[in-house]
Amino acid sequence: MSSAERTSDVIVIGGGIIGCATGYYLAKKGLKVNLLERDYLTSGSTGRCIGGIRQQFSTPLSIRVAMESMKKFAAMNDELGQAVEFHQGGYLFLAHSEEKKQTYLKLIEIQRKMGLDVEFIDVGEVEKLVPGIDTEDLLGGAYCASDAQANPFLIVDGYARKIKEKGHVFTHKEVTRINVENGKIVSVSTRDNEDFHAPIVVNAAGPFARDVAQMVNIDIPVYPERHEAMITEQMERFFDMMIVDYRPDGCYFNQKWPHGSIIGCYTPIPNVPGYDLGTSFEFAKEMGRRMGRLIPRLSDTKIIRQWSGSYEMTPDGNPILDESDVAGFWIVGGMCGHGFMLGPEIAWLAAEYIAEGKPPYDITEFALHRDFVGKEVMK
Ligand SMILES: Cc1cc2nc3c(=O)[nH]c(=O)nc-3n(C[C@H](O)[C@H](O)[C@H](O)COP(=O)(O)OP(=O)(O)OC[C@H]3O[C@@H](n4cnc5c(N)ncnc54)[C@H](O)[C@@H]3O)c2cc1C
Repeated sequence: MSSAERTSDVIVIGGGIIGCATGYYLAKKGLKVNLLERDYLTSGSTGRCIGGIRQQFSTPLSIRVAMESMKKFAAMNDELGQAVEFHQGGYLFLAHSEEKKQTYLKLIEIQRKMGLDVEFIDVGEVEKLVPGIDTEDLLGGAYCASDAQANPFLIVDGYARKIKEKGHVFTHKEVTRINVENGKIVSVSTRDNEDFHAPIVVNAAGPFARDVAQMVNIDIPVYPERHEAMITEQMERFFDMMIVDYRPDGCYFNQKWPHGSIIGCYTPIPNVPGYDLGTSFEFAKEMGRRMGRLIPRLSDTKIIRQWSGSYEMTPDGNPILDESDVAGFWIVGGMCGHGFMLGPEIAWLAAEYIAEGKPPYDITEFALHRDFVGKEVMK
């Protein structure tokens, strides 16, 4: 590889949705991008996510980012020149308690003010949307018909192809050192002893963002947390949306577009911190029970695969998008399990901020040096 090939305007570390989308938007602004991924593209959390895309968040900024991201997903077939299995089947957050219902009603007020097509629907409407759903204790649900799903593999592939038109995407290239001179980024070194030069490095290492930041001696609050997932055999599609059951022993799942397999997860209590990517019989058994309790006809459905991946948590449930105290070293991560859905807009914001020196709108809630108190309610 020539030294010209190893020199670029920006180096992106990480080949998931955040790295590839940020690289794409930087390239679109005319910058030469070299993206370095230590394994294969999508090998991190992105290839392990279930592909849900929603706009029902709790603060004006997170709702705005999610709504803008949705517009980018909707335009993606044309933008990337390939179909990405984008399908707007909605998201339905079920309320099994008066407290949950009141929380959703309050959030819906904020979301509707921002122009989101969300409403609280009663039990009868839920039954029409989800034939056969068990209605015991059910009070209705928060339903946004324009929420969606898409295929993370096709999207990452599409972004990576676009980066390659001007720059390079290197896989099996692990960054092991980031070289700083006089407080400024100059290059990175890889495990196979190659140096790549650029004045800007974007840390898009997902659950490993903290380890990468430590290469320039800064500590960032991004912590991995294991989440398990599963997919079932294919079946006729009979509901269209992601169903979210937020009870402590609830779960969330949808039917994949277009083939109808059910893909889903639940959030373990207590959380499982760390990098471990193991799977458990407990999860498969519980996921089957929880789905079957909600929609009894799913009780006989066969799970055909299970796996796990990492959420990349920050203390307040919001991402970090900022330049660090080391000039040229940017952090785009801490997506808290929403990196796929928010990825396109977060990446666009990052590219604009990096290239223009200021973000297109106020994102101080994503600053690195914030106090990290408060919490995103729609986690
Ligand atoms: C089970 C599960 C279900 C999920 N479902 C959803 C969902 O429905 N919707 C949603 O929006 N989000 C979902 N998520 C969250 C989503 O997957 C993540 O938020 C998102 O993929 C994060 O993307 P990323 O690009 O930041 O990280 P990653 O995809 O993890 O990419 C980071 C990459 O950096 C690479 N890397 C790390 N260190 C180095 C290094 N030193 N050198 C080079 N490369 C390096 C890694 O190999 C990795 O490929 C889910 C997550 C899980 C685990």
